[in-house]
Amino acid sequence: MTAQRDYDALVQRGLSLDLTRGKPSPRQLDLSDDLLKLPTSYRAADGTDGRNYGNLQGLAELRELFAPLLQVPAGQLVVGGNASLALMHDTVVHALLSPVPGAARRWVEEPEITFLCPVPGYDRHFTICERLGIKMVPVPMTADGPDMDVVERLVAADASVKGMWCVPKYSNPTGVVYSDETVRRLAAMPAAAPDFRIFWDNAYAVHHLTDTPVELADLLALAAEAGNPDRVFVYASTSKVTLAGAGVSFFGSSPANVEWFLRNTAKQSIGPDKINQLRHVEFLRDPAGVEAHMRKHAALIGPKFELVDKVLSERLGGLASWTSPKGGYFISLEVPHAAEVVAKAKAAGIALTPAGATHPYGKDPDDRTIRIAPTYPDLDELEQAIEGLTVCVRLVAEEHGLA
Ligand code: PLP
Repeated sequence: MTAQRDYDALVQRGLSLDLTRGKPSPRQLDLSDDLLKLPTSYRAADGTDGRNYGNLQGLAELRELFAPLLQVPAGQLVVGGNASLALMHDTVVHALLSPVPGAARRWVEEPEITFLCPVPGYDRHFTICERLGIKMVPVPMTADGPDMDVVERLVAADASVKGMWCVPKYSNPTGVVYSDETVRRLAAMPAAAPDFRIFWDNAYAVHHLTDTPVELADLLALAAEAGNPDRVFVYASTSKVTLAGAGVSFFGSSPANVEWFLRNTAKQSIGPDKINQLRHVEFLRDPAGVEAHMRKHAALIGPKFELVDKVLSERLGGLASWTSPKGGYFISLEVPHAAEVVAKAKAAGIALTPAGATHPYGKDPDDRTIRIAPTYPDLDELEQAIEGLTVCVRLVAEEHGLA
């Protein structure tokens, strides 16, 4: 029982380490310190005073800066507050209360609303559905994105399927990038519900870890070409570009959807924080400025991803499998009896995202997926935490006679 001996020694060390947080590290936040000295002027490009009410859609210069990065024309982008998650939540609420373009009625009047949820996926998408009474149907992920045979079948057959969550680039937690073929099929597939929407959460659009950024096909344009112009809601933010607690977020869609969205948000707000928008324009300047800034992030977090990959390879060999993403914030580790591994790690002072969190209703039917968030701890803490995690994986495997 060497695994038991290693585990006892691990517990003896009395660690207190945290791998749950998909947060930028303090050193990453330091990269944006200059934001705190900006803006140098409160005048927007159109001469308006950023200190005052108004401009619900957000400053044109900021929308123009992000339009090419997010594959949304500037006129079809809306700038929100710091949390794109709030935009996603509010879009669903708006759709429940005010019919989206093409809908026969408000979603709240439908007997049942279903969202497709590629798994493993982002737990906070699932909690929005749980809160708002939306039924979730899991769809398996492949190396190219969600299994499109399953998606096409469900969307075509069931008019209660009104939505689908997608993290198309460097997905949370697998790091998968949707292939061109997947994007093309999402754009063109027939839908039983005329008001079916894809929630395209492009949270990691510019978050590359390598010098060869992966390209994502343009869903908004492809959907319009396929005759489904209103199918797509795009989301993104600078939470992991500048400051997670003080960035800017984006909603992008067709002209009709943007008009619908702004009509609804006009009841919530007289206008966003344009001083923060000006600050971001001055700091990031242009798309090349964003890309240069993101290379600095990659230099800080790339070694963390490499370290996790190295330790897992050395210690787990054939006992587990894991992803080696080319961008984003997470690694997905697949092990037997994930819940037991997470519990053992917790008892040894290593906090992991609860097993099951990557699935709707917190239920991973195969009990396999553990999400690793390597960005926040420093390299030394990360190494201790991943080594400790591998001890737990080996112990659980041994207890089940798998090793
Ligand atoms: N979407 C995904 C896929 C995420 O992983 C995260 C954060 O981890 C968010 C959205 C949260 O974004 P925001 O900070 O803009 O609310």
